[in-house]
Amino acid sequence: MISRLEQLCLDKGLKMTDQRRVIARVLSDSADHPDVEQVYRRATEIDPRISIATVYRTVRLFEEANILARHDFGDGRSRYEEMPSAHHDHLIDLQSGRVVEFRNEQIEKLQQFIADELGYELVGHRLELYAVPRRDTAKPDRE
Ligand SMILES: [Zn+2]
Repeated sequence: MISRLEQLCLDKGLKMTDQRRVIARVLSDSADHPDVEQVYRRATEIDPRISIATVYRTVRLFEEANILARHDFGDGRSRYEEMPSAHHDHLIDLQSGRVVEFRNEQIEKLQQFIADELGYELVGHRLELYAVPRRDTAKPDRE
């Protein structure tokens, strides 16, 4: 089975080498928005000959082909995910670095409304929430 990202590459007419295929698979299989170092570590578990330079080049290639989304979550590391088929926003847990995906229709509508009021047609947006776990969430539920 080929990965979704590899299929997108083929659709775009990108030449696929074995190493690109591995990197595409790693990115398709990663739900945690990895950075290049993490992609590199996962790719070399499959093919130890893959170099970090190849990962950098391939990630840039995928990004330019518009099949990979790059995020900057404020810590100076670029993070990547397969271009999502449906829009979502991100909440970044500053304690663990975990990235939580969400979609909220009220936020979507509000953004439309704001652009509209300013005389614009909204064509896209990025929203990142930076958060720490609430202190009370670790406590057991009270009956
Ligand atoms: Zn995401």
